[in-house]
Amino acid sequence: MICPAYNEKENIPFLFKELKEKLNKDYEIILVDDGSNDGTYEIALEEARKYDNIKVIKHLKNYGKTEAIISGLKASSGEIIVIYDADRQFLPEDIIKIVEKIEEGYDLVCGYKIGKYEKKLISKIYNFLARLLFRIPVRDINALKGMRKEVLENMKLRKDWHRYIVPLAFHLGYKVTEIPVVLRKREYGLPKYSSKKRIIIGFFDLLAVAFQLTFLKKPMLYFGTIGLASLTFGFLVGLLAIILRLFGHGYRPLLYLVILLILSGILFFSLGLIGEVQTSIIERLEDIEKKLK
Ligand code: UDP
Ligand code: MG
Repeated sequence: MICPAYNEKENIPFLFKELKEKLNKDYEIILVDDGSNDGTYEIALEEARKYDNIKVIKHLKNYGKTEAIISGLKASSGEIIVIYDADRQFLPEDIIKIVEKIEEGYDLVCGYKIGKYEKKLISKIYNFLARLLFRIPVRDINALKGMRKEVLENMKLRKDWHRYIVPLAFHLGYKVTEIPVVLRKREYGLPKYSSKKRIIIGFFDLLAVAFQLTFLKKPMLYFGTIGLASLTFGFLVGLLAIILRLFGHGYRPLLYLVILLILSGILFFSLGLIGEVQTSIIERLEDIEKKLK
C-alpha cells in the first residue's frame, strides 16, 4: 500500500494504527513523505518503529502526489498496489474489498464514492467529462484504487496525472471495474489542492490526457481531416467569391473567409505532419524503453 503524505503529521499515528488493526500482516505499508515541512517524516519514522512492515521514504521537496506514487511504487515489493491517502479519508475496510476484487481477476479496481461528501458537484462534473472523453466503464476516477503492479509500471505518469490512472490503464487494455466506497471527512490537516487549482489543473490535464490517447496516436488522421475540410471549404468559398466578382458585385468579407480557411487548412495539415514525426519518435523511444526493461 502506498500512502502519499504532504503535511499530514496529525494523521500519521492514526493512519498506521488503523491500518495495522484492520489489515492482516501481508500488507506492506509504504509512507511517502512528499517534502512536508511540518515534521511528517520524523513522526512517521518514529511511529513506524512501533510496527513491522512499514517503510517510510522521503522526497527532498514537495514534488506532488503523482511523484509520491511513483516513488512508492519503486520501493514496493508486493504484486498488488493500493493507493491510500495518508489523510485517512477512505476506509481501510474498502482496501480489503479492492484487493479481493483484484484477486478475482481484475487489473485495476477503483472505488466510487457513495453518500454525501464535500465537492460532490465538482467531482460529478469532472467524472462526467472523463467518461465522455475516455469511454471508461467506471463512474468515479478519483477515489481509492488498487491495481496490479504492472499496470502502474506500464504507464507514463506526468505531473498531476495520478488523476488519470484509470483512463490510462483502460486504454492500455487492462481490465477495470469498480466497487462502492465511503469517503469520510478529513479529521486533521487541510486539503492540499484548492478547489480553483484542482479545477484548472484537472481540466487542462483532462484535455492533455485525452489528446495523448487520441490525436497523438494518429496526428495526420485527426489534423489532416480538419485541414482537408478547411481547405475544401476554402476553395468552395473562393469559387463563390470569384463567381460573385465576375457577375457584378464582389464581396470582401468572403475573401477574408477564404484566406482564413485556406491558411488554417494548411496549418492543420502541417500540424498533422509534425505530429506524425513526433509520434514516430515517441513510439521508437518507447520501444527502446521496453527493450531496456
Ligand atoms: N499529497 C501529496 N503531495 C501533494 C499534495 C497532496 O502527497 O503535493 C497527498 C496528501 O497528503 C493526501 C493525498 O495526497 O494524503 C490527497 O490529497 P488531498 O487530501 O489534499 O486531496 P483530496 O483528497 O481532497 O483530493
Ligand atoms: Mg483527501
